[in-house]
Amino acid sequence: MRPLHQLGVAELAALLKTKEVSAVEVATRFLARSAGNPHNAYLDIDSEVTLAQARASDAKLADGSAGPLEGVPVAHKDVFVTRDFATTAGSKMLQGYRSPFDATVVQRLRQAGMVTLGKLNCDEFAMGSSNENSAYGPVSNPWDASRVPGGSSGGSAAAVAAGLTPAATGTDTGGSIRQPAAFCGITGIKPTYGRASRYGMVAYASSLDQAGPMARSAEDCALLLSAMCGPDPDRDSTSLNVPAEDFSRHLQQPLGGLRIGIAQEFFGEGLADDVRQSIDAALAQLRNLGASTVEVTLPRTELSIPVYYIIAPAEASSNLSRFDGVKFGHRAKEHVDLLDMYQKTRAQGFGQEVQRRIMTGAYVLSHGYYDAYYLQAQKIRRMIAEDFKKAFAQCDVIVGPVAPTTAWKLGDKADDPVANYLADIFTLPASLAGLPCMSIPAGHSAGLPVGMQLIGNYLQEARLLQVAHQFQMHTDFHLAQAEGV
Ligand code: GLN
Repeated sequence: MRPLHQLGVAELAALLKTKEVSAVEVATRFLARSAGNPHNAYLDIDSEVTLAQARASDAKLADGSAGPLEGVPVAHKDVFVTRDFATTAGSKMLQGYRSPFDATVVQRLRQAGMVTLGKLNCDEFAMGSSNENSAYGPVSNPWDASRVPGGSSGGSAAAVAAGLTPAATGTDTGGSIRQPAAFCGITGIKPTYGRASRYGMVAYASSLDQAGPMARSAEDCALLLSAMCGPDPDRDSTSLNVPAEDFSRHLQQPLGGLRIGIAQEFFGEGLADDVRQSIDAALAQLRNLGASTVEVTLPRTELSIPVYYIIAPAEASSNLSRFDGVKFGHRAKEHVDLLDMYQKTRAQGFGQEVQRRIMTGAYVLSHGYYDAYYLQAQKIRRMIAEDFKKAFAQCDVIVGPVAPTTAWKLGDKADDPVANYLADIFTLPASLAGLPCMSIPAGHSAGLPVGMQLIGNYLQEARLLQVAHQFQMHTDFHLAQAEGV
């Protein structure tokens, strides 16, 4: 058998049920692997909390009251608030902050029996594509420590890839689950907007923010997603009134008859040759498995960059106004009056990229510019959703790359915000339309993983997971381990 830390959620759950291992053994193993905080993936670990949860799981496994994922460890992106661990959202603003409650997603995974290993590094307030915007230092990519893990859920992706946890939560506003999953060679899914409750997720852009699982395989993601989703009407007014599903239910179905849409806009100039080759080969594999391909068009793909980088900062500038030093978080020590306290608190607490977005957001919402920027962006957002609607009249799932390149070097784009924004081109459209989408490992180039994106119609998560699982049954990219893991 492979070592414990290389096993997935489904395998660990099975071993725990048959008592071949105990929850305490499993937790101890992962805690030991995280000693010294490899890759700077974790922001908070508390082995006493974790081991107490693991002991409780062992008791439930013994008395027959175990949940479906009892004793399987998970770690959370640091934008999910947690009672038992600090929550910083990667910001100095929230250094040492402790929430009086658990986010709904955290609570639901606990109810399913999962044991919390800790909190994972991320870009500050989930703003970024490289994890270099964390106030607590960048995360390194387990495949090549000189490279970024992607972002903003960089800690989540690196921790899974490095065998520091079998699964993690992430959040995706414009690509933050899919792109780090692609860069670190793991699997991640962002469900339809509203599937998972946003209650207790530190808000970035509320009309886009969604939670989702990150793990090695589609099978593991399906297990976590089934536990995470479901209505939360009293606490998140945008949570969909759709019952939780068993997202594993279609996994075993073969792909015969599947219609894959290929949008030429996802295969244009900016796409690196090595990524193109991997995706082309993966598409050939999907055809071998019985799928057919059809050309579709998503003509506003390029516009998704300016549209997203107007709407997301606009919402962020409103959401982040709560960090003013009054109720919680950082407060500047020296100030002459209230206004001075606000200004100093925010100047000290927020990093550069967060300040840039707040200013952009305030600008596009301001009198005289609102119509020219914000309103136009909202109109084009609607058109982007219409384009997908047309495309899904012809196909069941749209397949393309997650990102134009593989993971870049730490520092390479650190001083160039626009270069970072441009790299989000393939993940933003589905986010703006609120569609479910995922990233699965589909190749390697020069030792670095390449991710393939699957986009589905609303509420078609089970379908995406089926396509991903069938692909993974016939390929082994998702089983590849970074050296030394
Ligand atoms: N890279 C995008 C941004 O910086 C997406 C981040 C996210 O999905 N949270 O906003």
